[in-house]
Amino acid sequence: MSGGRSEPRLELAVGDITAEAVDAIVNAANETLLGGGGVDGAIHRAAGPELLEHCRTLGGCPTGQAKITPAFRLTARWVIHTVGPIWHGGEHGEAELLASCYRESLARADEVGARSVVFPAISTGVYGYPMASATQIAVDAVRAAPTQVTLVRFVCFNQEALDAYRNILGTE
Ligand code: ADP
Repeated sequence: MSGGRSEPRLELAVGDITAEAVDAIVNAANETLLGGGGVDGAIHRAAGPELLEHCRTLGGCPTGQAKITPAFRLTARWVIHTVGPIWHGGEHGEAELLASCYRESLARADEVGARSVVFPAISTGVYGYPMASATQIAVDAVRAAPTQVTLVRFVCFNQEALDAYRNILGTE
């Protein structure tokens, strides 16, 4: 049991994370927090140049940690920047670091009172984390996290992600 706290409701979303109207959007960033490709590039383009200006003041972010900023031109109120592990075969602490990204992101959400959060499939793009294990870690970590967040949406940018999340959430 979890001391009166209830787990967040989990939902799947399909498409571009920048279109999500939630309190906080999670960005799969890199340690510099100075922008990149993939979901990071999409978020920076949609949020506008103020986001990069703000990120310059943060001094980067270690892998497995998370930092929060305003969302500027996005519909969401905040962007939570977390740095997923690069997949090196699975024997280098990748699973623990990935779980930490989800926990730490929810901790940042709690600090500002965000109640709805949307995650991309962290590390499953350029960072190469296998989709099936990455999505299982995402769901397990969110369910186990001590958080006040009531709604967590997992954005599926492609069919592979959608199939993976459906496998986990639909067969229990
Ligand atoms: P990482 O470096 O953590 O692997 P990527 O941005 O390369 O980050 O990919 C992470 C996941 O985000 C991938 O599953 C990719 O398909 C997905 N993705 C890329 N662009 C978007 C977007 N605009 N909205 C939602 N998900 C996206």
